[in-house]
Amino acid sequence: MVRSRFKILALLLTALLISGCRGAKTPQGVTESTRQGQRVLLITGGHDFHQEKFFDMFFSLGDFRIDTLHQPVANRSLLSDTIDLYDVIVFYDMWQEISEQEKNAFINLTEIGTGLVFLHHSLVSYQKWDDIKQIRGGKYYERSYDYPPERLSDYKHDILMDITVKAPHHPVTAGIRDFRILDEGYSNIEVIDEVTPLLTTNHPECSEIIAWAHRYNNSRVVYILPGHDDKSWSNENYRRLLANAITWTGNRLEKYPFPIIGD
Ligand SMILES: [Zn+2]
Repeated sequence: MVRSRFKILALLLTALLISGCRGAKTPQGVTESTRQGQRVLLITGGHDFHQEKFFDMFFSLGDFRIDTLHQPVANRSLLSDTIDLYDVIVFYDMWQEISEQEKNAFINLTEIGTGLVFLHHSLVSYQKWDDIKQIRGGKYYERSYDYPPERLSDYKHDILMDITVKAPHHPVTAGIRDFRILDEGYSNIEVIDEVTPLLTTNHPECSEIIAWAHRYNNSRVVYILPGHDDKSWSNENYRRLLANAITWTGNRLEKYPFPIIGD
């Protein structure tokens, strides 16, 4: 146990060193509120993506201190004490394997109030873990699992979506107006009633609510459906949305006891 914890700590330290070498740029249009130096862990794995373009976009979002981990190492790191140091964990993974111990550690993060941002295909993760739907605020029902046909979700690449800002006064939509984006849509996903819808689309091949804010235990949570490839990552509204989501979720509730819209 001590040995494996040491190993995880070593991995985290390696991640810290690697990410420390990458300079964070501040692009035009990122709001001042993103410049808070929050410590962010970005988790990837289980789904292909254009790594260079994605990481370039992510590391240029603002003044965040970013580490990255790939699955399955990322889930093992949940068992490390150092996981508590992160203000926000961003999930761009699509992963199914998670031990009972790792599930407990995941839920513990929501008790200490770590911010959670789920992106795009992370809505497909953990088909067999019921709690994740409540934590994340929704679920994509993947067809290789045993669901009734009418419950299955579907996807469609390269659809042109008109996006409406549903919650214009929410901190996560600050600086964003209605926009159009060419991206992959998911249809027939489940979105739980408790979430605050942030963005919607009326595209027939995509579910209506495509971004939401949520709270689980003491964690602020945001899910953003767009983000399959560079067509979204290069979109100014998308980048601002993501930067805002990290900032908002990373402001732990105990540090900001006054009411904030969206809680
Ligand atoms: Zn995709």
